[in-house]
Amino acid sequence: MTTVLAVANQKGGVAKTTTVASLAAALAGLGQRVLVVDLDPQGCLTFSLGHNPDRLERSVHDVLVGAAEAKEVLLDTDEGFTLLPATIDLAGAEALLLMRPGREFTLRRALAPLLDSFDVVVIDCPPSLGVLTLNGLTAAQSVLVPLQCETLAHRGVGQLLRTVAEVKQITNPDLELLGALPTLYDARTTHSRDVLADVADRYDMPVLAPPIPRTVRFAEASASGASVLAGRKNKGAEAYRELAENLLAHWRDGKKLVTFTS
Ligand code: ADP
Ligand code: MG
Repeated sequence: MTTVLAVANQKGGVAKTTTVASLAAALAGLGQRVLVVDLDPQGCLTFSLGHNPDRLERSVHDVLVGAAEAKEVLLDTDEGFTLLPATIDLAGAEALLLMRPGREFTLRRALAPLLDSFDVVVIDCPPSLGVLTLNGLTAAQSVLVPLQCETLAHRGVGQLLRTVAEVKQITNPDLELLGALPTLYDARTTHSRDVLADVADRYDMPVLAPPIPRTVRFAEASASGASVLAGRKNKGAEAYRELAENLLAHWRDGKKLVTFTS
């Protein structure tokens, strides 16, 4: 059974794209056949995996508007997984999709013929709660919410959780909210920890462990066209590996995910 995971938060800069790339590399390292889907018109995931969105002839945009099959658009990455890339054209897909009946199901339908070829699909949602994110959430079985460990970082989380609840009611009853993933975590201060305790308290949402530490390796990695797992041993890569193992155990054996507060 293929698992489809959406990584979503309408706030930018919370490490959605970094999480998708790192998790995909970690899952591929564990022997999984992994597909990542770039749903952000900015194409940051596509770029960070070594493909220049400005030079691509086709992207997920063509798939969503019905001009191409997903399998015709796939690209390989250096880290052993597959990419459905985005280009800036995707910004226009939003308007086109809005005029279509069943618009939230477009990605789900487009991915269906690919599912046999992959064990895990990870979707990088854009920083909005528009029709692209609704497509990501409708195509997914589970959703992970990266959350930067700073005061006010959780502003907007309530709105995101309402969107997830609506998606469950209307387009995707089986969607499972896995929880918040603490990112850009600074273990040296109590501040990050306090923010997470507050989030766990305030919302009915698990806060997952391990938190992803803030390290300069991530900036170096996205500039180099590879994920943080490709470089030298570091704490960030270790955290994503551990998360990947926890997720696989959850999906395969129904094991409870490790939380920050437990
Ligand atoms: P989003 O997709 O949510 O907008 P990104 O994944 O693009 O966020 O991350 C935003 C910025 O933060 C990027 O420059 C990225 O390199 C950096 N970043 C992400 N995770 C970490 C981390 N754990 N430590 C340091 N920098 C990080
Ligand atoms: Mg992003």
